[in-house]
Amino acid sequence: MTASLGDVAHLGHVELLTPDLDASVGFFTDFLGLTVSGHSNGSVYLRTWDDYEHHSLVVTAHTTSGVRRTALRVSSEEALQRRVKEIKNAGREGTWVEDEPGIGRLYVTTDPDGHELALYWETEWYQAPDELKPALKNQPQAKPNRGVGVRRLDHVNFLASDVAANGDFLRQVLGARPTEQIRLDSGRIAGQWLTFSNKSYDVVYTEDRTGSNGRLHHIAFASDTREDILRAADLAIDTGVFIETGPHKHAIQQTFFLYVYEPGGNRVELCNPLTRLVLAPDWPLITWTEEERKKGQAWGLKTIESFHTHGTPPVQA
Ligand code: FE
Repeated sequence: MTASLGDVAHLGHVELLTPDLDASVGFFTDFLGLTVSGHSNGSVYLRTWDDYEHHSLVVTAHTTSGVRRTALRVSSEEALQRRVKEIKNAGREGTWVEDEPGIGRLYVTTDPDGHELALYWETEWYQAPDELKPALKNQPQAKPNRGVGVRRLDHVNFLASDVAANGDFLRQVLGARPTEQIRLDSGRIAGQWLTFSNKSYDVVYTEDRTGSNGRLHHIAFASDTREDILRAADLAIDTGVFIETGPHKHAIQQTFFLYVYEPGGNRVELCNPLTRLVLAPDWPLITWTEEERKKGQAWGLKTIESFHTHGTPPVQA
């Protein structure tokens, strides 16, 4: 059974773990151009200039890198109750918490691979302080005149030991739609891209070749233009940010990308997928074969090897 689309509205925020909090926060503010909106207990809350909520990123001091909470905003209190009921019906554990500034209570559970997922409805609409007031009333905050100046958190890409099981959970229990996937010759699904909205994807699962659970491949922030990504690459080499691969274009989802590592070791993507929307309610799931994947990215360049091996936190392969 597939749950109806719409109860989950969009990806709200992601919590990253870092062994070097100051350096990671410096990366997100100076290089990406995010704004700090709060602090609490070893966590720093950050927002893009176009976030209507308090934050879309939480960076938390930890012994290692990785991802903790990924929070999804639902479309109403009733939708929240419906999804919590379905999570319980699916046999998954969950608890209510209220532990984030600007966000009401969250129902915290995990996906089958063990990534922490939270659902929430109540949120405080951001009110910019005087120094960050925008000129136009339909924008939450003035654009910061530094770094890349990303518009929004775009997607999260989890690593999972069983991609299909996690994709099925998001589809059946949370109402996501898979839009594209990779099927190996063995029949195993090695990657799946899912959306809760008209964006072509919000959450991605790709296979963890180490067989570990609960790890992160990357989080991605969207820029307005491809040119922003090229400029980001120039900024990266001038400021010592490690570029893993790109700028280049994915075949899957056709996203224009740059992958860098933040100082805590987590992979961060700058992406430009803004013109691509899935409006069709009966969008057919696009399946890429192993042979097609061997052709590499959209313009034929091979996928860099570390893309298949680097995840956070690091584990012995
Ligand atoms: Fe991505």
